[in-house]
Amino acid sequence: MNKNDSERLAALLLSLGMEEAKTEKEADLVIINSCSVRESAESRVGGLVNSLTRLRLQRPRLIIGVTGCLPGRDKQGLLRRKMPQANLFFSSSEMGRLPGMLAEFFPGLKTNTFSFSDYLKIQPRYDSEYRAFVTIQTGCSQFCTYCVVPQARGLTKQRPLIDILTEIRDLDNRGYKEIVLLGQIVNQYQAPDPENFSVYNPFQQDDFARLLWEVNQLKSIERVHWTAPHPRYLTDETIVALTLPKQVNYLHLPVQAGNNEVLRRMNRGYTREEYLQLVLKIKQTRPGLALGTDIIVGFSGETEQQFEDTVSLYQQCDFDIAYLAKYSPRPGTAAARAWADDVSWDEKKRRWRLLQDLMEKTTYQKNQQYVGQIKTVLVDKYQNGQNLGQSEEQKLVSFVSDQSLVGKMVRVRIKEAAEWILRGTVV
Ligand code: SAH
Ligand code: SF4
Repeated sequence: MNKNDSERLAALLLSLGMEEAKTEKEADLVIINSCSVRESAESRVGGLVNSLTRLRLQRPRLIIGVTGCLPGRDKQGLLRRKMPQANLFFSSSEMGRLPGMLAEFFPGLKTNTFSFSDYLKIQPRYDSEYRAFVTIQTGCSQFCTYCVVPQARGLTKQRPLIDILTEIRDLDNRGYKEIVLLGQIVNQYQAPDPENFSVYNPFQQDDFARLLWEVNQLKSIERVHWTAPHPRYLTDETIVALTLPKQVNYLHLPVQAGNNEVLRRMNRGYTREEYLQLVLKIKQTRPGLALGTDIIVGFSGETEQQFEDTVSLYQQCDFDIAYLAKYSPRPGTAAARAWADDVSWDEKKRRWRLLQDLMEKTTYQKNQQYVGQIKTVLVDKYQNGQNLGQSEEQKLVSFVSDQSLVGKMVRVRIKEAAEWILRGTVV
């Protein structure tokens, strides 16, 4: 989400006549797009502001800005006061006002023609020429007790369907190969303007499934990927939509914990059994689908036994990948108000390591099934004589060819599989 916001920010600055500087040492303006999900991410923002402030001793005209989640959650202005060195401090949704703010510092810029009340109306300057992020909703109204996103990003706001379709059709016309639909509960998408769905759309109830069908009708786009769905809102229609031809062979389905008491205190809105049932249904509907998840270890009050439930759920689901986080209490969240952060750092590290080792072992074993198979790879780069790209399962694949294949779909026969990379040769 932040990457996509940065692409909008870049487009806005370019449209004002600015140019991209090669490094921050050459820049007149640096804007840090911050994440607040964990304390460590916010601390890095503080560190970056300090190092830019030191750089400003040599370049006194350097303007420093901070945007994203950190200003978004700073309702009382306390964080702003901790960063007096920043010249600009604005939330992502205030991005449309940036031209006006910049006028003060860069009198030469033609800033008065631009004003966006809805920042999603700014057309991104996509970093890639073949894969694009498309935000379909902002904010979140779920209020998981550990999570700062509702404060940092506001309540859920659905983007008009017509804007999403216009953006995606334009990407299709430009030859894009893969699109990634983004939202905090992406599968909770509800079109404010459902009349823009095609009359031929076979899905009738779930607007997210209907959107997936629309994307599947496009010509040049070959892959559709979305993140992050919430298990509670995953409907039968969306599970059926997993079988649409352009759906990548991967689903990211955050579980967070495998114990019912922990899930209840997290306010996740589902039980372990419901999650397992969902995974079963998904695997039956689309056999071979690779599955990923997010897990938090060491949540307030999580006992050893409760953590073991997460380990056993991991084994049962046979995940391909998990993004493991150590619980970090966030100011203003219900969990931080109600409960102590009572699992020690060392114990969090131990639980994290245990799951990380389990994941690597599981993934290594699972990846052996691909040896001998032919996988379609969207090639991302060519470096040190090797091509690297992603399979339909979102696995990293390497093979030896040349620069001309970057951005192309290539068929690769897998010869060897490690945990995080499959190696093969071009067919
Ligand atoms: N909307 C997505 C996730 C958004 S935040 C969802 O509901 O799954 C991305 C991930 O960061 C979460 O899935 C969670 O695993 C992690 N996370 C969020 N808050 C956290 C916290 N306070 N401490 C540690 N990890 C956290
Ligand atoms: Fe945070 Fe929960 Fe919303 Fe995800 S669903 S963004 S974890 S509040």
